[in-house]
Amino acid sequence: MNKRPLYFDYAATTPVDERVIKVMVECLGFNGNFGNPASSSHAFGQQARQSVEQARQQVAELVGAQADQIVWTSGATESNNLALKGVAQARGVSGGHIITSQIEHKAILDTAKQLQDAGVAVTYLVPDAEGLITPQAVSEAMRDDTFLVSLMLVNNELGTVSDIPAIGQVVRNRDALFHVDAAQGAGKVAIDLAEWPVDLMSFSAHKIYGPKGIGALYVGPQAQQRLQAQIHGGGHEGGLRSGTLATHQIVAMGEAFALAAALFDDEKATIVHLRERLLEQLLGLPGVRLNGSATQRIPHTLSLTFGEGEFNVATLGQSIAFSATSACNSASNAPSHVLLALGHDARSAGRTIRLSLGRFTTEQDIDQAVELIKAANASAPAFWQ
Ligand SMILES: *Cc1c(COP(=O)(O)O)cnc(C)c1O
Repeated sequence: MNKRPLYFDYAATTPVDERVIKVMVECLGFNGNFGNPASSSHAFGQQARQSVEQARQQVAELVGAQADQIVWTSGATESNNLALKGVAQARGVSGGHIITSQIEHKAILDTAKQLQDAGVAVTYLVPDAEGLITPQAVSEAMRDDTFLVSLMLVNNELGTVSDIPAIGQVVRNRDALFHVDAAQGAGKVAIDLAEWPVDLMSFSAHKIYGPKGIGALYVGPQAQQRLQAQIHGGGHEGGLRSGTLATHQIVAMGEAFALAAALFDDEKATIVHLRERLLEQLLGLPGVRLNGSATQRIPHTLSLTFGEGEFNVATLGQSIAFSATSACNSASNAPSHVLLALGHDARSAGRTIRLSLGRFTTEQDIDQAVELIKAANASAPAFWQ
């Protein structure tokens, strides 16, 4: 078997932690916890229900929410759809205005476009030079008919962290709801929904060492009566999201969130250390720069633009698994909309790579990646001297 590339794409997806796999498979076979959580009349269903509710508690705990505020979905894409379309439709009137930004994930941008086509006015805020959306920018964009603001906690391409509590305060002062896509933030940023003025928050398991195909939407007290279901049939999840609950996925997401809470401090310290080791070596090379705020960021995700030269992203991709834009844009091969919003042109966006670190990254991985990046540019003396 060929040697696999070094994995530097944790922001696209993470492997499932072995401890999560263990609890997940226990929910599949006949001897395991396979019952339908909705079958309340017998022990199989009751046991499954108990596990689902424990997982709900685990997810809630990591983010300072209450268990009954967590609604299971198929992932952050569905959570984002439910939040945006659900709030827009629950108003029962056409028109109105929502605010989001140019650097959101496509799961927000494409959904906002749908609402726009349905007659909702949409403002796409431009990030500042640091890649941040400021409370002031949100404040200036608020209109009398603004009913929803949707912004991400951590940007998936840059790793920048917006000041969500401060922005939430701006939104609270008006009669609008605040939705936050936290797919990249959970387990990396300390989230406290008991304190933060946030009404809806999206999560995904596969960005935090859980499986793909499962996520959640936090629905706070102000949003409870202002959200319309998008998937009907059976009235599961308080009527907000029907469908038989995927016990194995849910239990796995719960375990992944509990692990993230338990490992939070250690993991952060380790990633900071690895990030320093990587940046020290790469920023020492001529022409390399880091995109987005140097301080208001998570250590895990680094967007680096290389200088003019023969830098060959495709060749490097054979030995290091990274994202040339973001996994979601890679499918379309268009220059990253996030980098364009930061003022890059298509050429410098094309010389940009996202390296993202995670739980299984080692010092050796870092040093090997640096050597490979240097070697990929050895033939470009104009740039590398
Ligand atoms: C990955 C991601 C999503 C999509 O999550 P899925 O669970 O894959 O649907 C949405 N928003 C952000 C910021 C992401 O990073």
